[in-house]
Order: sequence, then structure tokens, then C-alpha cells
Amino acid sequence: MPHEPGDTEPGDALPSHALAVLTALLAQDRPGFAALRAQVPYARVAGGCGCGCASLSLAVVDPANAPAAEVVGSPVAEGDVLAPDGRCGGVLLFVAGGMLSYLEIHSYEEEPFAAWPPVEHVTVSRAAPAA
Ligand SMILES: [Zn+2]
Repeated sequence: MPHEPGDTEPGDALPSHALAVLTALLAQDRPGFAALRAQVPYARVAGGCGCGCASLSLAVVDPANAPAAEVVGSPVAEGDVLAPDGRCGGVLLFVAGGMLSYLEIHSYEEEPFAAWPPVEHVTVSRAAPAA
């Protein structure tokens, strides 16, 4: 596969738009979210998605500084995407074992989102996702 500038590799810091979306999803007063927010500075890219979309699996590299969060269910947060080009989709944040594990972006159309849109194109849902 050709390597393009902007591709993320395992171990990389999160791309800035993905980090902004993650931060927005966690900016809610819900059980365990303070602990999840404390993991964000230690979150790195652990992998991508084979379909060509911009979804990222996450790894928290220093769990000693960012203990597991007491959260119920996964995904723990979600939002809607209305991209600058008019495409619609959604974002989901998954947690495994109390640690940030997967930041998903999906499109409601055939073409996946190959890049994270600026955070102002994401509307965070204030309701907790159905587990
Ligand atoms: Zn995908």
C-alpha cells in the first residue's frame, strides 16, 4: 500500500482532528469520563481500519499515569458527522477494560471517511449510547 503523508502508523500521536473529536466526545459529565479524559495525553494510534476509513484503534501507552475508567457499556459516546462536502455519518468511542480502545468514524454513504473532519463538523450526542 502506498504511504501517503497524513497516514498514521501504530505508535503515532492521534491526528489533530481525531484528537479534537475524541476530546469533544469526552467533554461530558458521565461516570468514568474524568478517568477517560486523563488517558487522552497517553493515547496513541494502535492501528487503523482495513476498509480505508479513518477509524483508529487506540492504545494507552502509560496506564500507570492513566488508570482504567469505571465505565458501563461500550461505545461510551457518540456523535453525528456532517462533513464539509455534505456527507453524513457518525462517530463512536469504544472502551475496553476501562481504557480508550477505538475511535470509529462511519459514513452513511458508500464512500468511507478517509480522513477525520474538523471537530466543528461533529455534533456530540448528549444522550448515552444504548449499550
Ligand atoms: Zn473502516
